[in-house]
Amino acid sequence: MSTVRTRFAPSPTGFLHLGNARAALFSWAYARHHGGKFVLRIEDTDLERSTEEAVQVILQSMDWLGLDYDEGPIRQTQRLARYREVLDAMLADGRAYLCYASREEIDTLREQQRAAGEKPRYDGRWRPEHAKDKTPPPGVKPVVRFRNPDDGEVMWHDLVKGEIRIANAELDDLVIARADMVPTYNFAVVIDDLDMAITHVVRGDDHVNNTPRQINIYKALGAAVPEFAHLPTILGPDGEKLSKRHGAVSTMQYPADGYLPEALFNYLARLGWSHGDAEKFPRDKFIEWFDLAHVSKSAAQFDGAKLLWLNREYIKEADNARLATLAKPMVEAALSHAIGENMPDLAQVVALVKDRSDTVAHLAESATLFYRHATPDAALLAQHVTDGVRPALASLAAHLKDCAWDKAAIAAVLKETLAEHKLKMPQLATAVRVLLTGQPQTPSLDAVLELFGRERVLKALASAA
Ligand code: GLU
Repeated sequence: MSTVRTRFAPSPTGFLHLGNARAALFSWAYARHHGGKFVLRIEDTDLERSTEEAVQVILQSMDWLGLDYDEGPIRQTQRLARYREVLDAMLADGRAYLCYASREEIDTLREQQRAAGEKPRYDGRWRPEHAKDKTPPPGVKPVVRFRNPDDGEVMWHDLVKGEIRIANAELDDLVIARADMVPTYNFAVVIDDLDMAITHVVRGDDHVNNTPRQINIYKALGAAVPEFAHLPTILGPDGEKLSKRHGAVSTMQYPADGYLPEALFNYLARLGWSHGDAEKFPRDKFIEWFDLAHVSKSAAQFDGAKLLWLNREYIKEADNARLATLAKPMVEAALSHAIGENMPDLAQVVALVKDRSDTVAHLAESATLFYRHATPDAALLAQHVTDGVRPALASLAAHLKDCAWDKAAIAAVLKETLAEHKLKMPQLATAVRVLLTGQPQTPSLDAVLELFGRERVLKALASAA
């Protein structure tokens, strides 16, 4: 079998949403599983709507998700001469023809067809056999149309959806180049997939309707048709089209919201594909397991809670220094200043709070406590820093002044203070937490005190007197 070659071919006309990212992931995984090649192609022939910014976001998203490509990014605008060459050859022998129908004319035709209860379609009025005696109207720049076969049908075995058949009578003569000779999507995509020797076209099922048109172009070029795999749509949790609130956002919003790339990668892998009941698995397992046979035929549903669960799991096992690097800008933004020199090491703070965080943003929020000068709320102070605990706070301060400064020594001092004052841990601990952080709940108190450092702890305890 020839080498598997797949591609991801986004149009840089907006942000790269989850549906695009999932198409990229499955295409990539198919190539990697088969030891093939993965090509990145930027489909930028829509000159008005394509932007360089969108190209950059595509590249960033691929990079963030770790979807490496073997060739590209190849931009279609770099290949205009090549499309022109094929268009000219097709025009020369009638596989394509110039159509001078103006937009108004086509609109009128459509209206008439609609009024007559027919499906609107181009009627072939500029096909060479009908155009023999016609003079091109002045001022109209022609488009190029593909001469679609009139009879028979187009059939392919979709690797996800199974056999699909469309009668040629359903397809009209497609515009393959606009008046400026810039090709349309359906034409450029065929020439590219052909020239780039793509063996498997893996893409969203919003393109199923384009496939028979593309297959006809392959045939007109005498070329072998690649395999197609159309991935199921991603719907929102309510079964509706994906909305902004549920995943229809830019892939790059996920890092900004504190998601780890391995979590989104894993989540997307399960979006319309499964391997038994495996939910959490690393990249190399996905590559090893991925096949098109287990891509589901029915729509996939976006489930934000599941993504969050995966993110929490990956945060738990992520390296503290890496999480600290990701959280640092968020902590500093919350503080409105850089983390000071004598402040606790962020990686150590991360180690303490990461088990309770489902996003890096959430983790950063918890970490921020360690860098703020707390101004506890009066009501909290009144509730927890009572006359009953005040003497214990004073002895705690006295003991902490010269004990060794590590978790074990601090834990011992806390215990000793409780025994002396016949108090229960929560009474003393909550008072200390409120004084030190402004919050009644924190991770384990001995670890928190150790990180805050002796000086800040003694200062906070002194404020209770
Ligand atoms: N540029 C098309 C899109 O973004 C690609 C379609 C394809 O993969 O053939 O939808």
